[in-house]
This record gives sequence, C-alpha cells and structure tokens, in this order.
Amino acid sequence: MVLEDIKSIMISEEEIAKRVKELGKQLTEDYRGKELLIVGILKGCMLFLSDLVRAIELPLTMDFMVVSSYGTTTKSSGVVRIIKDLEREIEGKDVLIVEDIVDTGLTLSYLVENFKSRNPKSVRICSLLDKPDRRKAQVDIEYVGFKIPDEFVVGYGLDYGENYRNLPFVCVLKPEIYTKK
Ligand code: 5GP
Repeated sequence: MVLEDIKSIMISEEEIAKRVKELGKQLTEDYRGKELLIVGILKGCMLFLSDLVRAIELPLTMDFMVVSSYGTTTKSSGVVRIIKDLEREIEGKDVLIVEDIVDTGLTLSYLVENFKSRNPKSVRICSLLDKPDRRKAQVDIEYVGFKIPDEFVVGYGLDYGENYRNLPFVCVLKPEIYTKK
C-alpha cells in the first residue's frame, strides 16, 4: 500500500492547488499578447503542467521533451541526453519550460542553452519545486512554486523508481523505502 510508505507530507493538495492558481494568474499577466509555447519536461512535469495550463487564461501551445541525465539516480552529471525532442520549431516563440524540480540545475542549464541556440524570442523557466541547497549550475528560475529543503520528495508527478507519481501531494518517503533492494 502506497500510503504506508509515506513518512510525511511536505506540501498538501490544497497548498499546491492554491499556488498553481497564483502562478497561472501571474503567467496570464506576464504573457498577455505574446506567443506562449509551454514546453514540458517529461515525465515529472505532467501533473503540474496539466493543472498549470488550465490556470492560464491565454491562448497557448504545448510541446514536450524527454531527457535523461547521465549518472546515477541521485547524482546528476550535467550531460543531458535528449530522448524525445520538440516536435515544432521554437523560433520567434516565447518559451516557458515547465519542470517538476530544480536540484543541481545541471539539466536546466543545459536545456536553456540548447533552446537559446534555436532562436526563440524568450526562454523562461517555471518549476514546481526548487531545491537551492544543492545547486551546482546557476539557473534563473522566474517562476517557482515552492522552495524546499534538501530532501528527496515524491508525488504530484515526481517518482522514486517510477512509482508514487500519482500521489496528489508532495511527500517524503520512509527511509526504509529508499534503502530497500
Ligand atoms: P538537476 O539537473 O537539477 O539536478 O536534476 C533535476 C531532475 O532530478 C529533476 O527533473 C528530477 O527528475 C530529479 N530530482 C531531483 N531532485 C529530486 C527529488 O527530490 N525527487 C525526485 N523524485 N526527483 C528529483
């Protein structure tokens, strides 16, 4: 049973819903009159993105990217492999990258440079979570849902071994779950 694996809830379903609405309102103001393209980095962004786009009261388009960072599950190496690239050109578009969490920042600093080489009009980042304690590469995150301490979290799109993504809140698992196997 999944609920038995949870140590504590860090961000509740209600807190997430409230913050997503606020972000949607802010994005609606900031991107009015622009050609907004939302780029989701799969799979972690899926729940956040689907709630966020419904809170943005503007016409927009969406595209998705799948990336994998070389290295172990806990240590990002900074070398990013694009497994699925964008389907359309981003030239002249106002691109908003939607991520689940920024940890070392290595993945996003690579992606932002990669995107900039494709000549968009602008590139900004919107991340549900920000773990600033472990930052290795400097990235400007214009839109942050929540700043969190250096703990490994799951839920609301975030996984541990592909599990727990469907939990409606962000939580920390019991230590024995992470040491199992
Ligand atoms: P970065 O390159 O910023 O270190 O890597 C970000 C990626 O690492 C995220 O997109 C996510 O897949 C993974 N990650 C970093 N911290 C966590 C965490 O606390 N929980 C989960 N589930 N994934 C994390």
